[in-house]
Amino acid sequence: MEPEAVRERLLKRREELRQRANDASAEARHEADPLSADFAEQVTQRENDDVLGAISSSARAELQQVEAALRRLAQGRYTTCAVCAGDIEPERLAAVPYTDKCRACAEGSRPQPGRGRVLG
Ligand SMILES: [Zn+2]
Repeated sequence: MEPEAVRERLLKRREELRQRANDASAEARHEADPLSADFAEQVTQRENDDVLGAISSSARAELQQVEAALRRLAQGRYTTCAVCAGDIEPERLAAVPYTDKCRACAEGSRPQPGRGRVLG
């Protein structure tokens, strides 16, 4: 893939993640939906806040990875494995655009979860 196309894709992903993190935080702060006076309802709202918090923190974690990938791209190190300095497989980058490890190194540590949809 062309570096410029990769950059476009990462920038687009970054926007989505920022949006998702911001939306989840705003909702968890009850900007549009103040805590209910009803205790049972509050419990439901707080459970929802936990979910929103998880969404927000996973979006932020991926956001950091996307930003790191953009930096590596700018430095010409985007396809270089951070662990073994070998080339990261193109199909791996297509599936996980923000990865900084080749398949062997990634599998040696922690497998990437199968989420993070590939964008058209
Ligand atoms: Zn490696």
